[in-house]
Amino acid sequence: MNLTIRGDFNEEFVGSAVKKATSLLKIPKKIKLNIFVIDNIKFCPVTSGTLKGESAKEFKKLCKEEATSMSLTYKKNNHVIIHISKFDNYLKTNKKALIGVLLHELMHIVQTNKSLDNKIRKAAIFAFNKFKKELFKIGQPKQNIINFYSNIGESTNYVLKDIYANLELINKGFTDYILEDYYNLYFSKKKCIKPKLQKQTLEQIENAINYQLELLSVIIPFTKVQRKPKAKKLINYLKKCYEPKELSEEFKELTSYTLKNFSWRKNFRQNFFMIVFKKSLDLIF
Ligand SMILES: [Zn+2]
Repeated sequence: MNLTIRGDFNEEFVGSAVKKATSLLKIPKKIKLNIFVIDNIKFCPVTSGTLKGESAKEFKKLCKEEATSMSLTYKKNNHVIIHISKFDNYLKTNKKALIGVLLHELMHIVQTNKSLDNKIRKAAIFAFNKFKKELFKIGQPKQNIINFYSNIGESTNYVLKDIYANLELINKGFTDYILEDYYNLYFSKKKCIKPKLQKQTLEQIENAINYQLELLSVIIPFTKVQRKPKAKKLINYLKKCYEPKELSEEFKELTSYTLKNFSWRKNFRQNFFMIVFKKSLDLIF
């Protein structure tokens, strides 16, 4: 494992968090791991040392554009970038939260190496093909519908990846670490935007759905451990972000379906996409 720290950090603090996270979550030996901890996009990895040409360029571009923590796998090279911005500044002093965000990204690496990304993509294509006929009855230009559903599909893809990562971390007993991170993240940036769902343009509906989906990637896993007071408080806060009511009603089914049926079987993933696509279709009408 390689660790690169760039920015205004207590290196010892970061080093010990990385050590703890990588000892809690066993990373298979064959997985080559590069971890970057940075606090400014100007430190976006110039070169990871292992990437060349196009992938090195893409890696840097993603790091700069997203300005958030992420994990990236290129063939055998696995990269975790922990990007600490002014919104999650607590990660510089709260070790439990830093271990939490590291565990989350490391779990993405482990699951990507089990082909989860491909499996999720296949489920999205399956659900879209099943749905195609219904979609084109909407009376909107075909290309708009395709764009709408590919964007919703993309968000669902990320949500599902996060649900897999967080539920597996919870199952392994690491709840307190990730909860510490999400709790601080949502309470420090007060991110409750409550988008208005006016049935005007597809784009507005799409933004509202994407926002709700992002909240679900936190609400669903922590509903499983809501006996913990901190988890309950976080869920209640996020649920208040569900405005208007019709969106929250529409997506309730997704939470109960996931908690009941979560598994590595493809049926689960296909149905997850089907539910999102179906609910989105209901919202257009
Ligand atoms: Zn994630």
